Amino acid sequence: MNEQPQENFNQLECRCPVCGAEQAWQNECRRCRTDIRILRQLANEAYSLQRRCFEALMADDHARAKKAAEQLAQIHPTQFYEKLSRFLKE
Ligand SMILES: [Zn+2]
Repeated sequence: MNEQPQENFNQLECRCPVCGAEQAWQNECRRCRTDIRILRQLANEAYSLQRRCFEALMADDHARAKKAAEQLAQIHPTQFYEKLSRFLKE
């Protein structure tokens, strides 16, 4: 379990959620042929949100950071983003 801010989205490889095979990002799993394009879309979306969240924090824009952290907590649940979004509410 990784509770640090996610840096996995910069990785060059992904893991198939069906069979667990590690591989380069591609449209379908090399082993079980599952369509894994959605994984990449989610990873890209989460990476953009993560950047937006950090940029907003650096600019002291807590409302914008909170919104990004809440969205991150939904699409990529980690304790870090749940706690951050709660922290920014207070
Ligand atoms: Zn697979």
